Amino acid sequence: MTGDLRRAVGIDLGGTYIKAALVDGSGNIEHQERCPTGVEGGVDGVATRVAGLVHALASARGIDLTDVAGVGIGVPGVTTSEGTVVLAPNLNWRQVPFKRVLAERLGTRVELDNDANVAALGEARIGAGGGCDSLVLLTLGTGIGGGIILGGRALHGSSFAAGEVGHICVLPDGPRCACGLRGCLEALASGPAMVRLVQDRLSAGTPSVLVDGDGLTPEAICSAAASGDGLGQAAVDHVAEYLGIAIANIIALLSPEVIALGGGISAAGDVLLKPILSAAESRSLEGMFEHTRILAATLGNNAGSIGAALLVL
Ligand SMILES: [Zn+2]
Repeated sequence: MTGDLRRAVGIDLGGTYIKAALVDGSGNIEHQERCPTGVEGGVDGVATRVAGLVHALASARGIDLTDVAGVGIGVPGVTTSEGTVVLAPNLNWRQVPFKRVLAERLGTRVELDNDANVAALGEARIGAGGGCDSLVLLTLGTGIGGGIILGGRALHGSSFAAGEVGHICVLPDGPRCACGLRGCLEALASGPAMVRLVQDRLSAGTPSVLVDGDGLTPEAICSAAASGDGLGQAAVDHVAEYLGIAIANIIALLSPEVIALGGGISAAGDVLLKPILSAAESRSLEGMFEHTRILAATLGNNAGSIGAALLVL
């Protein structure tokens, strides 16, 4: 098969699974594979598994590694411009020069970045941004992650860790965040924060269709709100209020073309998006808010692997 350098391999390296995709120049996934990360195998074990996936992708499509532009990889941690993973708690890694390790193992071009930056790149070029120049991605889940794309590239800042949207302070002296600071967006508007609020109100006797237990998820709370449940709506409004504050701050600072909301809760749609929009608009300067489109992210679980491939495309 003739080589096409307008395709690349994107790797989404997570604490549980490694996902690999062969992606063409338009961001379409031609083929994908995944396997358990095997964190206990250490850096060498993970590198072997990543290399195995890359070779499996190539042979599934009948191509050679010299036929692709390279391998991009997103990692869940703090990275450097040289491709060293400074700290990745989910992998138990500190100071791992993984770009070099992988490039030596594969003999091909490798680029590496933080997973949130990589997902933001995917959403900007291919997903919700549709090729826009500037986008901020907020990933709403167990935590709140963020990535900033300006001029079509990830903004890393002087620490190379820029984009920590989850740790913007939105409530002075607010609840303690997992990072140790108080009043971070993540401590007030993440999935667990939303569930905790409902649990507290339920145990105080607030009537609701929601019941405490395994089924009490952010998704269940959003759907209760959509069907008119007062407590569900109160929890949605609480989260939307703090997300709105953060989004208004982002607009004031960067005025991006697009702010995309990803992660599980973002699938809730208008029930969450509408109160977020109104909270953000009420705090934005005149003449700024209408220049930023606030949208649900569109690449879902593929944002990581597609965005990683774009690092070399
Ligand atoms: Zn924090």
